[in-house]
Amino acid sequence: MNNIIGFTSSIPVEIIYAAGLIPCDLNNLFIGDPHPGLFIERAEESGFPATSCAWIKGIYSTVKKHGIKKVIAVVSGDCSSTHALAEVLEYEGVEIIPFAFPLNRSLKAMREALEEFRCYFGVSPDRVEACKQQLDTIRQQLEELDRLTWEEGQVSGEENHRFLVGASDFGGNPEQFSQELNTFLEEARQRHPKPPTFRLGVIGVPPIISNFYPVIEELGAEVVFNEVQRQFSLPGARNHDLASQYLVYTYPYAVSGRIADIKTEVSRRRIDGIIHYVQSFCFRQIEDIIIKKELPVPVLTIESDQPAPVDGRTITRLETFIEMLLGRQKSPHTRPLF
Ligand code: SF4
Repeated sequence: MNNIIGFTSSIPVEIIYAAGLIPCDLNNLFIGDPHPGLFIERAEESGFPATSCAWIKGIYSTVKKHGIKKVIAVVSGDCSSTHALAEVLEYEGVEIIPFAFPLNRSLKAMREALEEFRCYFGVSPDRVEACKQQLDTIRQQLEELDRLTWEEGQVSGEENHRFLVGASDFGGNPEQFSQELNTFLEEARQRHPKPPTFRLGVIGVPPIISNFYPVIEELGAEVVFNEVQRQFSLPGARNHDLASQYLVYTYPYAVSGRIADIKTEVSRRRIDGIIHYVQSFCFRQIEDIIIKKELPVPVLTIESDQPAPVDGRTITRLETFIEMLLGRQKSPHTRPLF
C-alpha cells in the first residue's frame, strides 16, 4: 500500500510511474466499488454536508477505506472543493501533494509546474520520457477504440466510457491495461458494425449514474462521444512533449477550450444532440449557460447526485429529447426547445 498514490483528478501520471509508484484515480476506485452509495453515507457521518458533491465525499471515504497514505490534490484546474477535502485529509494524517495546472495555460508555467512535480518525486527527465513513450502507445490504442466507436459502430458508448475513463491512471498497471485493451480491440473488430440511429455526445464530468449508457441505448440512441473521458486519454498526446500535452488537455482550463474541442468532435462525428451531464452541487453547472448558447446542436442537461440508476423523470426527459431529435431528422428546420 505504501507505493500507491491517490489523486483527485487527472495529473501527469508519467512522473508517478517514473518514480516506480502506483497512481490511483480515487474517483475510479470509488465508483468501481460494488457499494459506492455507502461511501457517501460514511462521509456524511464524518461531517461532510449533504449539499456537497458526491465525488468529493466518495473520494474522502475511498482514502479512508483503503488506508491510502498519500494523495495528490489538484488544487488549480479542477475543483474548489478539493481544497477543503485536502485540508481534512491532511488534518487526519494523509500526506497531501499539491499539483496546480497553470490557469493562464502558458507553456512556461506548465514546464515549471512539471519540473517542480518531477523534482518532488526525484526522477530524471529521461525516465519520465520513457514512461511517456509507453503511455502514449496505449493512448494511441485508445484513439483506435474511440474511432471504432464513432466511425465503425463496433464499440458501444459504455465500452468507450469504461476504457477512456480508465486512462487517467491506466488501472495502476499500464502493461495489464494495454493487454486488456488489445484483447478488447481484437474482439471489437470482429463485430458487425452497428451504425447508430441517433448519434449522441456526452459532455461534462463522467456521469455518476450506474445505468446511464444502457438506458440511452434502450431508448434507441448511441453515445459516440464521451468528452471528458476522451480528454483523460490525452488524444494526440504522442505529437507533443509532456508540457504541451498537458496544455492541450482541455479539462483544467477555461470552458472556451472545451467548447472548441466539442464543436470539432460534433462535426467530425456527425453528432445529432448533446447530453450535458452535471453533478449536483458542482460549480461546473454554471458553465451550462455558455455551452447551451455555443453548441450547434440541441443540448439536454441532466443532473444527478448519488451513484444510483437513472430516475424516472430523467428517463422521460431523455426519451423526449431523443424523440425531438427524430423529429428534427424528419424536418431539419425545427427549432429545438431545450
Ligand atoms: S463534480 Fe464538480 S464539484 Fe464534484 S468533484 Fe468534480 S468538479 Fe468538483
